[in-house]
Amino acid sequence: MTPKTDHFFRQRRPETPVLVVDLDIVADSYRTLRRVLPQIEVFYAVKANPAPAILRVLADLGSSFDAASVGEIDACLTAGAGPERISYGICSKKQRDIAYAYGKGVRLFAFDSEAELDKLAEAAPGANVYCRILTPNGGADWPLSRKFGCELDMAADLMIRARELGLVPYGISFHVGSQQTRATQWAVAIDRVGEVFVRLAKAGITPQMVNIGGGFPITYREPVPGIEVFAEQIEGAVARNFGRKRPRMLMEPGRYMVGAAGTLYSEVVLVSRKSYAEELRWVYLDIGKFGGLAETMDECIKYAIRTPHDGGETGPVTIAGPTCDGADILYEKCAYQLPKGLRSGDIVMLDATGAYTTTYSAVNFNGFLPLRDVYI
Ligand SMILES: *Cc1c(COP(=O)(O)O)cnc(C)c1O
Repeated sequence: MTPKTDHFFRQRRPETPVLVVDLDIVADSYRTLRRVLPQIEVFYAVKANPAPAILRVLADLGSSFDAASVGEIDACLTAGAGPERISYGICSKKQRDIAYAYGKGVRLFAFDSEAELDKLAEAAPGANVYCRILTPNGGADWPLSRKFGCELDMAADLMIRARELGLVPYGISFHVGSQQTRATQWAVAIDRVGEVFVRLAKAGITPQMVNIGGGFPITYREPVPGIEVFAEQIEGAVARNFGRKRPRMLMEPGRYMVGAAGTLYSEVVLVSRKSYAEELRWVYLDIGKFGGLAETMDECIKYAIRTPHDGGETGPVTIAGPTCDGADILYEKCAYQLPKGLRSGDIVMLDATGAYTTTYSAVNFNGFLPLRDVYI
């Protein structure tokens, strides 16, 4: 919640559902990361919210960017970030997209397989490449699973292969899973990176860079540890593994950078019951899984919801979206309570919705418009 977004909504009364993002909070998040982890460069993970206004604020503050497509690369360049501030950080890329990025001047690329290295050697000769390793994602509310990354022995072999192919075996990266509340997972991952460095030293390779990914959590319904707790784990592990030979370090925060800056305003479409016997009410909002709240899948991300009746007596609810689709239920299992006074037409506020919402919104499912977004 931010007073600025609530004030804006009260004054302008834009049509709901609408996400209002306070750009001052985005800037604050960037500055906090720089202050708490001054030796780790920030590469904002664009997919969290690629709005031009956000990219511009961060580009002006000196941030770099983690992009995963030519569309995101173009958006960063348009925002004023030079290609030296862009990392093409996804491990599966079309060769022509690599060539496009290289043509634009991008020189930093992720990989986790030999086939990807072959493409990079062809389309981005001499580029700096970094290998993503697998690391445990336990403790993450939105785990990234095993989709990207490889085991440590393979990572070492691939870095050697990169050198043979004329690429620069530049670094190692990982991602501990998104909304990761267990700070020790960064230490576990950095220890794993240290192991790869030891293996590579035997082949005469000293990577120059370690990319600790994103994953830093924000407060939704439950409080999370402060960023200082994560910084302590990270710096402890870096000191333990690299001592005075500290490599260049990058991080790729997405959610942490923009999540708290956004508030989603939604209208209650209906409050109803299914039987005379049950106390449970069904609350239908004008936003759901298909309107941008995809992270409620499996009730992973539990948004805090404010209503005009807060403070009044509450009762159990199931919260659903506006479409006819049976999958369009936000919360059924995780015990939400909302005020008994809640009625059709009330406006509710979903806080910390600045990340992973707008671009998850369907184009026109059931005739509903994509989520509107405003940056103030
Ligand atoms: C999505 C993603 C991020 C951002 O993760 P958050 O949990 O939002 O901080 C960072 N790096 C990569 C490679 C990603 O795919």
